[in-house]
Amino acid sequence: MSVTGPRSQEAFRQAQEVIPGGVNSPVRAFRSVGGEPLFIRQGRGSRLVDLDGREYLDYVLSWGPLAVGHAHPRVVAAIQQAATLGTSFGAPTEQETLLARAVRQLVPSLELVRFVNSGTEATMATLRLARAATGREVIVKFSGNYHGHSDALLVKAGSGGATLGVPDSLGVPATVAATTWTLPYNDLPALRALFAAQGERIAAVIVEPVAANMGLVLPVPGFLEELRRLTAAAGALLIFDEVLTGFRVALGGAQARYGITPDLTALGKVIGGGLPVGAYGGRADLMAQIAPLGGVYQAGTLSGNPLAMAAGLTTLEVLQEPGAYEHAVRLTERLVAGLAELAASSGVAYRPASVGTLWGGFFSTVPVDSFETALQCDRARFTRFFWGMLERGIYLAPSPFEAGFVSTVHQDDEVAQTLAAAREVFAGLG
Ligand code: PLP
Repeated sequence: MSVTGPRSQEAFRQAQEVIPGGVNSPVRAFRSVGGEPLFIRQGRGSRLVDLDGREYLDYVLSWGPLAVGHAHPRVVAAIQQAATLGTSFGAPTEQETLLARAVRQLVPSLELVRFVNSGTEATMATLRLARAATGREVIVKFSGNYHGHSDALLVKAGSGGATLGVPDSLGVPATVAATTWTLPYNDLPALRALFAAQGERIAAVIVEPVAANMGLVLPVPGFLEELRRLTAAAGALLIFDEVLTGFRVALGGAQARYGITPDLTALGKVIGGGLPVGAYGGRADLMAQIAPLGGVYQAGTLSGNPLAMAAGLTTLEVLQEPGAYEHAVRLTERLVAGLAELAASSGVAYRPASVGTLWGGFFSTVPVDSFETALQCDRARFTRFFWGMLERGIYLAPSPFEAGFVSTVHQDDEVAQTLAAAREVFAGLG
C-alpha cells in the first residue's frame, strides 16, 4: 500500500521532469526508505498537511529550523511587517545588529557574528578563516559529521551521504579532499595520536559537538574537553558546527551544555526561523581578519536579508519566553523515555536518545558511539518503522541517519499519540 497519496504522486512525477530527482535536496526524495515523498501544502504548529489533505504530526520541522513550529503567528507577522518595508537592500539594516546581539547573548563566544545564507556557507567560511589565521592547510573532521556540501567538507560526511551510500561526492578534487583529514568520532586515542604526530600542520578541527547527521550520537565524556585541550596546545583552532545543535541542545548550544568554548562557531537552521540564514562567529581577534576589516574575503548579496533577520529574531524571542524551551525539552524526554519502554516491552532492539530538543534512535543491538557503529543498525527495520509511523500520521525523517526534532508548540497529547502509534508499529516488527 502507498502512504503517499495520488496528488503527491502526480506532483512528484511532474517535479522530476524539471528538477533532478524531483527534489532540491537529496534526502527529501525518500530514497533510503524506498518510496515517494509527500508533497506539502501547509504547515501549522506541530502539523504538516500534504497535497492530498492528510495531516501529520511533524518531527522533522524542516530538518531543524522550526524551533517554535510552523507558521508561528508572531514569526509570520514579523516577516509580513518586514516585507512591507522591502525585501532586500544590499545595505546594512538595524535588524542585523539586533539579531547579532541576540545570538551573542545566547552564545557569548561569538564576540563578532557574520550572517550568511546557509549552514554550508557558514562552515565553509570558518575553514577559510582558520587557514588564514593559522597559516596552515589541514582541516580535521570526523567521519559521519556533516558540515554542508562544500568541497573541503564533503569527505566522509553523514546525512544524505550516508543515506545514499556515497560518503564522498564525485566532482570534489582529490587535492581539496587531501587537506581534509578524517578521524572516527569519539575516538580519543586516534585524536591524541594524530595531534602527537602532525599537530603543527592542523589549522582547525571542525566537529558537530553532538553528532546528529548519522542519527543522534552523543559525545563520550572527555571527547570535547580533549579536543579543546589538544587544539589549543597545537595552535590549531576548534570550530564547533552548531548548525543543528544551536538553540536545541541548550539555548546556548552544545558549548553551553558541555562548558567548552570553541574559537569559532557555525550556526544555521533555528537562527533563521525557517528562512535561509546561517552565521559564523567567534573570537574577536579572529573575526577581525574577515573583510572589510582583514584580508579573508567572504560576502553575500542576500546576507543579512531583512525578512530572514525578522524571522530569526522573532523565533529566538519566542523560544526564550518563560518555560517555552523547557516545555519542548520535557516533551522530547517523555517521547524518548516512552520509546525506550515500548522497545523493552516489545523486545525490539531500539536505542533512543535525546539531548535538549534533538532526539533519535537506532535499531541496533550494539551501542552507537561512532559512524562505524551507526552503520551497523538495522536499516530494513527502520524502513518498516518509518512507513508504519507515517501510516499512523507521524512524520519522521526518511532515513535512519537523521535526527528528530521537537518544537515549543508540540503538546503532551501528541507525544501520547506518537507512543500509541509506535506501540502498534513495534508490535509488528517482531
Ligand atoms: N552543519 C550541520 C551540522 C548540518 O546539519 C547542516 C545541514 O543539515 C549543515 C551544516 C549545512 O547547512 P545547510 O543545509 O543550511 O547548508
